[in-house]
Amino acid sequence: MNPPLSATAETVFDEYAIGARPRPAAEIGELTESFIAGMLAEKPRFLGFPANMDFRFSELAGVLDIFVNNPGDPRSADKAGISSKPMECAVVDAVARLANGAPDETYGYIAAAGSEANLFGLDRGCTALPAARIYCSSAAHYSIRKAARLMRRELVVVDADPTGRMDPAALAATCRRDAGRGAIVVATLSTTMTGAVDDVDAIIAAASPAGEVYVHLDAALGGLIVPFTEYGPTWGFARPEVGSIAISMHKALGTPVVCALALCRAGLVHTAVEGDYVGATDATLGCSRSGLAAVLLWYALAGKGLSGLEADAHTALATAAYAERALAAAGTHPLRHPASVTVVFDRPADAVCRRYHLATEGDRAHVITLPHVREAMIDELCLAITEQRGM
Ligand SMILES: *Cc1c(COP(=O)(O)O)cnc(C)c1O
Repeated sequence: MNPPLSATAETVFDEYAIGARPRPAAEIGELTESFIAGMLAEKPRFLGFPANMDFRFSELAGVLDIFVNNPGDPRSADKAGISSKPMECAVVDAVARLANGAPDETYGYIAAAGSEANLFGLDRGCTALPAARIYCSSAAHYSIRKAARLMRRELVVVDADPTGRMDPAALAATCRRDAGRGAIVVATLSTTMTGAVDDVDAIIAAASPAGEVYVHLDAALGGLIVPFTEYGPTWGFARPEVGSIAISMHKALGTPVVCALALCRAGLVHTAVEGDYVGATDATLGCSRSGLAAVLLWYALAGKGLSGLEADAHTALATAAYAERALAAAGTHPLRHPASVTVVFDRPADAVCRRYHLATEGDRAHVITLPHVREAMIDELCLAITEQRGM
């Protein structure tokens, strides 16, 4: 029991309690306005979690007064016929191309979030290699563990090096014991805590003693950053072993709702009509899917174009390099992978972590410099760190 915390929770619940009678519109307006203002007030100090807050969708307010549902495959018509599937297909094609996949050889859809996209990719891998175990590094996201549990498939957690990259020698050692079974390996492009980008070529070579290798790329954060780095021409579907990719779209791109792209090679899905009632082919993990998310993603991507995405990635990488220098000057021992917008450093005092929404693990913390993060915000953080230390 933590009395102060539960007291806060009760106060909050009381404030929003829903009663038998309708609340007066003015009261609802006040509560939602103050909710929005409170969230906006945090934006200039939102440094530690991967969500780009640099967006504006209010011109699309009209879409909140219509119902849009994309059940089944984006390319399949459905009986309800109130979807935004043409927009969804455009989004899937654009991201497939960014991932070095030919649109007509890539299957994809907009999933609820990165965790669902990881489950989708691993399900495709487990179907392709029924005897294989799943391998990931100790720095992989916990959604990989959930996915393995849901599929009742054995998960082998391989050591990561001190920077957070999967250790290929450790992977090779375990894969040699699994000769003939094949291997499903999760490579992470920007690990959650240190932003490490796994060496996919080294991972493929290390896993090959097991037999056939299926790589799922968890590119939740890095999927819209690495295409614009030195990895651009070789990442994603450029390697034949890569079967599937997950990219969270509320992270590097930024959207008011969480959503993600689930991509795989077209040959890995079977397009059968699932349920006469919906009348669509459906290789997704759900039934109804957010048509709103597809509209938002199409609007954002069409407005930016690939050149806008590239500019965003370069801005974010430049801010990360700036943060690395500033945090070094503040004596916090920063570390960053060159293709990553995550900078890990010595954990500051708790008050600083709370004020700047910093994610922490043990004695380290990180900032993620997505486009809403400006150099002045980094300067303010560094000042707060040195002031706290002086106290
Ligand atoms: C954020 C993250 C996820 C989970 O994505 P959600 O969109 O939050 O479900 C998975 N993997 C990595 C590496 C992540 O950083």
